[in-house]
Amino acid sequence: IYTSMQQGTPNILVSVRVRPLTKKEQEIDSRSLVHVLDNNLVVLLDPTGDINLPEDSFRSNRSREKRYAFDLSFDKSATQEAIFEKTTKFLIEGAANGYNATVFAYGATGAGKTHTMIGEADKPGLMLLTFEEIFSRIEILSLDRHYKIRLSYLEIYNEEVRDLLTSSNENLDIREDSIKGVTVAGLSELMVTSAKEVTNHIRSGNKRRTCEPTMANETSSRSHAVLQIIIEYKDKASGIDADIISGKLSLIDLAGSERASTTKNRGIRLLEGANINRSLLALGNCINALHENSEKGSKIFIPYRDSKLTRLLKDSLGGNCRTVMIACVSPSYMSFEDTHNTLTYANRAKNI
Ligand code: ADP
Ligand code: MG
Repeated sequence: IYTSMQQGTPNILVSVRVRPLTKKEQEIDSRSLVHVLDNNLVVLLDPTGDINLPEDSFRSNRSREKRYAFDLSFDKSATQEAIFEKTTKFLIEGAANGYNATVFAYGATGAGKTHTMIGEADKPGLMLLTFEEIFSRIEILSLDRHYKIRLSYLEIYNEEVRDLLTSSNENLDIREDSIKGVTVAGLSELMVTSAKEVTNHIRSGNKRRTCEPTMANETSSRSHAVLQIIIEYKDKASGIDADIISGKLSLIDLAGSERASTTKNRGIRLLEGANINRSLLALGNCINALHENSEKGSKIFIPYRDSKLTRLLKDSLGGNCRTVMIACVSPSYMSFEDTHNTLTYANRAKNI
């Protein structure tokens, strides 16, 4: 898969990450509904069946289970570094040479999206690991190029775009420029030179994220957080008026994909649910259409304009861009419906 992605097609990598059961989940029911076989097969057991089966029987007992094949699947033992190595590291080369790419974590609230993208101080996620790799790689690349690394961090909440790097609450406009690609008017783009600076920006940005409590999960995040890394360079040999080449990596912690109805939300929360789903639905539709075009040579219209998220990503999905989806799921008995929905969404992004 890596070889073909490096050559440009297919440009979509679909992966699944199964997190460990939390302490709370283990106390209620320690059984695991999701199992990973051979690094790409995911088995989802039906909670109404007998799930107290020994590990071996997953290969033979196929009656009460669903099987999905993905490009990559990670079980609970996968480390943050392993996820980084296999899903994101190989995108940096392209971004440092002027190509755009997108990595997003999809899944229900509590499935492990924020852990994967942002992580914790002692287990940093993809956002920080990516910067660390860029900074170490830039030293070598800087022998014959002048590089500048910039960062922006925004959230899309209720179909409104907000800068997470300033305290302004303004709803920003997304614009399209034939030269610059997609831009967000007035969005901060900060120059960064070290992983430490990046950590501070991400941390203060996260504090500004809209985190309204819902009935499903007190700390559930209802917003899509988009970190964009802009890598710009000029060849030293070409002198002062050398062309500036720029590549952009978008790393996205999506809002929870659970349906509004399952969280018994009313009023503003229900409207939010509809808006969250609008972006997620549009993202799924764009990916499906892009996939169909690249696999079957069709010329399907890509509905980028259907949501703020897909408008923002118009220059970072499809074409020469690479897209990596990390579908996050909980193995818990109680998350069966969410897990089933997420695996179905992820599978749809892959097989048409
Ligand atoms: P989400 O952002 O999808 O709502 P979180 O990333 O906040 O979910 O994860 C929910 C809980 O599970 C958190 O307490 C988080 O630390 C924990 N968790 C998620 N993924 C993992 C993992 N791979 N290993 C250990 N703990 C995890
Ligand atoms: Mg989260």
